Amino acid sequence: MHRLTKATSIPKKVKDKVWERDGGKCVICSFYPANPCCHILSRAHGGRGVETNIITLCNRCHFIFDSGTREQREKYEGIVTAYMKIHYGDDWCKEDQAYKKW
Ligand SMILES: [Zn+2]
Repeated sequence: MHRLTKATSIPKKVKDKVWERDGGKCVICSFYPANPCCHILSRAHGGRGVETNIITLCNRCHFIFDSGTREQREKYEGIVTAYMKIHYGDDWCKEDQAYKKW
């Protein structure tokens, strides 16, 4: 496997940990059936498959998070950022989740 592919894929133990941290619920709407498989910093940007970069989202929120309007994406990103800061402290930031800083 390519190194970047490996760095950005999500190992099962990370999924298990994220699922537990998020209580098996979508972080944004906490309502629909969800999966612990959303990269906050996308794989295309080198976002790593680590618990500080992975959240549980339902399909609907995942779609909007990745492909919604700019306004929707900013709103969702704000919710997710606040959520991650609660768990990992105020120093958490999306840019730090990259496999490599280019
Ligand atoms: Zn949702």
